[in-house]
Amino acid sequence: IDRVSLFETKESLYLDATTRRNLEILDNIHGDQKRTLLGVMDHCVTPFGKRRLRREVSEPMLDKSAIEERLDGVEELKSREFMREELRSVLRPVQDVERIAARLACRRIMPREIVALKESLGIYPTVRDLIESCESVQITSIHDRIGSFDDLVKMVEDSIVPDPPATLEEGGIIKEGFSQDLDELREIARGGKKWLLKFEEGERKRTSISSLKVAYNSVFGYFIEVTKANLQHVPQDYIRKQTLANAERYYTAELKEFEEKILTAEEKIKSIEYDLYVGLRERAAQHTNAILETTRAIALLDVIQSFAHLAAANNYCRPVIMDGAKTVVKDGRHPVVERILEHGSFIPNDTLLDSDRNQIVLITGPNMAGKSTYLRQVALVTVMAQLGSFVPAKEASIGLVDKIFTRIGASDDISRGVSTFLAEMMETANILNNISEQSLVILDEVGRGTSTYDGLALAWSVVEYLHGHKKPRTLFATHFHELTRIEDFLSGVKNFNFLVKEWGDEVIFLRKLRPGPSDQSY
Ligand code: ATP
Repeated sequence: IDRVSLFETKESLYLDATTRRNLEILDNIHGDQKRTLLGVMDHCVTPFGKRRLRREVSEPMLDKSAIEERLDGVEELKSREFMREELRSVLRPVQDVERIAARLACRRIMPREIVALKESLGIYPTVRDLIESCESVQITSIHDRIGSFDDLVKMVEDSIVPDPPATLEEGGIIKEGFSQDLDELREIARGGKKWLLKFEEGERKRTSISSLKVAYNSVFGYFIEVTKANLQHVPQDYIRKQTLANAERYYTAELKEFEEKILTAEEKIKSIEYDLYVGLRERAAQHTNAILETTRAIALLDVIQSFAHLAAANNYCRPVIMDGAKTVVKDGRHPVVERILEHGSFIPNDTLLDSDRNQIVLITGPNMAGKSTYLRQVALVTVMAQLGSFVPAKEASIGLVDKIFTRIGASDDISRGVSTFLAEMMETANILNNISEQSLVILDEVGRGTSTYDGLALAWSVVEYLHGHKKPRTLFATHFHELTRIEDFLSGVKNFNFLVKEWGDEVIFLRKLRPGPSDQSY
């Protein structure tokens, strides 16, 4: 298996696809998104905040000062509960401005979206005012990046009806009072019937023909109808249009003019509305970049308030970020499992990993003891810390991790000609070939897909290799009890086990990690 080094230039904490899957960062095998790291962490209230968090969660930061800056922002909003709650409720009605702005940029924005955009942009100044008094660098810089869109808001406010139709073709988009031409045409369209009645009334009076009728049909348009008996009263200016059995139909110049106006009015209304809308859209589109820039800042603010909300609601602590290869966690918890369990029933555990005497923690214990949960928990606390989030622990000091590798459970890829055992070996080789001094390695069983002695030999040599090369922080859970003897040979290996008690016929899982190998009786 070739050595691959794809990761050297990465600037974020590297999580390969297998690790993202194993740690259930975005998805889990049951398709239950709530029971994932993202599901637990997402308390964003805007669609673009949620999108930003989703992107970030798979690419935690690697830069200590950037992480600390984020943590300062989270801490500030965590402590200012009133401001945070206010911010959440102010942001909640904000629509997906990022998507709308993208449609605006390519001139595909519909009237309803432009109203949604106006309403959302109208909220931004309130957001800016709310965080005015913040002091952390991250939030003050967000404050400074929130632009003002008063002109745009006013322009849309003045020109577009509050509840426009979904499409452009229907018309009814532009407000009354915005364009005189449009208002006049609308008046004509609306007033047509009234005008006709008045005209009919006038003609009856003028001609003294009380049976005179003004009507419309689709073939001949508007006409004045006079019965044969009254033909002698027809004035000079009537122009004959059609002859019927007992009546004549006429029009006048005035009626003709009216007809033209009314028939083209609807048409014109639509075209004027369209032109006005296109003009407005063009002017709005000039603001696209500024809108996106501001919205990006607000997305970040949403992520920060989400982290603050999460930390406050779940009793998380602020992690200390360090440069050295050391991880110290006191009373750490698994962020997802603790949510699923009854409140307060998750048993916290400590972690000490370094590149020296506590480099490889070897964990034994029976099935169901809590090994897999613990392994993942350490990785997730690291991920959260490097996202700039508080973490589920009493105290945590996290030496920056450049890559997290996990090898968990059995998988195969038979369609690619890879058996379970080969898949496991390829994953393990990939890890061993790509670790650095700053990596975190999580191994949940190695060597299970073959005979006991071969498996044990493999597990043993993997531990030896990790101990001798780069010395990454490593957690290794195993059912090979014989492997615990390796502690006598390698100074950086420490045995731990999960405490289990027997009570009559029952086994009680205490889920507490304690030093030393497990006894073999299970
Ligand atoms: P196996 O060897 O069979 O894989 P395991 O030792 O890895 O078992 P886990 O899968 O980690 O055990 O844990 C089994 C269950 O125990 C979990 O689904 C969870 O409900 C519960 N559990 C694990 N850790 C804790 C804890 N610290 N506090 C409370 N419950 C826990």
